[in-house]
Amino acid sequence: MPLLRRIIALALATFAVPSIAAEEQALTLLRPDAVFDGETAVLRRGWAVLVRGNRIEAAGPDVAVPPEASVIALPGTTLMPGMIEGHSHLFLHPYNETPWDDQVLHESLALRTARATVHARVTLMAGFTTVRDLGTEGAGYADVGLKHAIEQGIVPGPRMLVATRAIVAPGAYGPRGFEPGVGVPLGAEEAGGPELVNAVRRQIGAGADLIKLYADYRWGPGEPSRPTFTEGELKAAVEAAHSAGRQVVAHASTAEGMRRAVAAGVDTIEHGDEGTPEVFAAMKAKGVGFCPTLAAGDAIARYRGWNGAVPMPKGVQEGFDALAKARKAGVAICMGGDVGVYAHGDNAREAELMVKGGMAPADVAIAATSGNAKMFGLGDRLGTVKAGMLADLVAVEGNPLTDISAIRKVALVMKDGVLWKGPVGR
Ligand SMILES: [Zn+2]
Repeated sequence: MPLLRRIIALALATFAVPSIAAEEQALTLLRPDAVFDGETAVLRRGWAVLVRGNRIEAAGPDVAVPPEASVIALPGTTLMPGMIEGHSHLFLHPYNETPWDDQVLHESLALRTARATVHARVTLMAGFTTVRDLGTEGAGYADVGLKHAIEQGIVPGPRMLVATRAIVAPGAYGPRGFEPGVGVPLGAEEAGGPELVNAVRRQIGAGADLIKLYADYRWGPGEPSRPTFTEGELKAAVEAAHSAGRQVVAHASTAEGMRRAVAAGVDTIEHGDEGTPEVFAAMKAKGVGFCPTLAAGDAIARYRGWNGAVPMPKGVQEGFDALAKARKAGVAICMGGDVGVYAHGDNAREAELMVKGGMAPADVAIAATSGNAKMFGLGDRLGTVKAGMLADLVAVEGNPLTDISAIRKVALVMKDGVLWKGPVGR
């Protein structure tokens, strides 16, 4: 059992940073074969990283080793920043185990929360030390509680940025198929018109680190997605969230839903299957990030019987096309797979599909570290290996800059200076 952090002060900041207790100023030197700093596509051979307490004190080729430091040798590995999952749902489990409707309708909050603690642990052990968790899908504000349990050392897990319930236009989300007016559990909070702004505020007051809006969705079974909120509604919601210092994420797969979300000033767009060159150009112009969630499309197609052969199903092909168009427009790409649709801990799946979609492994590794950190407003403390940053570090076997699958071979996980996986120092 690793040493659990005992003393945590909940910082006032949106994303709480634990304080460092004096007795936890332990010094650890990590000696891998090479370091990937999260920002540059160059392996730094012969570098070492010194950690004091929960921060990186030094990183480089000539780190002075204090005699009291314990040294962890990591032969054969690349040390890199803890990875950041851009789009998770820790309160969902794979749809081929239980369809989404049944999870929302029939699984109790206690059951879902118990599962989520396991999902949190396997995510951390897979080297993902931070997640942007984009909605509990019917599990209320349980993500806030899970985040606190992780921060307090009660259960192991990644740092969490939580969206809580997410917000959908009334009538525009599921589960469906019930007598109108009969109350059934829903996958998100319904709000629209003037009430939408208050829903944003209530979610923030209840612990949301960011707001997720569904800018489009299927209005009925078998329908294609169509816009849900008006541009004016989206603008009002974004204004309320931004004035409270929270980013806004838009689920949008139609060109018009994306266009409205961009015009309204959202920070990132998720899915984007039908995005046009015009929409991606607008995203680039306004600095909106794009999370293509290729792995979710891949997983859902396979659950429906696709074996990976060509031609790809429409949904899978559209994801790759969207990624290509976004890259051509110069849009910042998020690494976030919608994990939860597929198994937690398999976060590398999205990274591998991004490479399949034409990105260089090094660019994907940068997206999963400093790229996501900057996109989510965490770049001042996470996503890079350099002095002063929080000690979220992962060692992987091999070179992820040339073979992205190396991120699956996790030899060490350190989060906030606490070693969760890997050899003990001597
Ligand atoms: Zn999602």
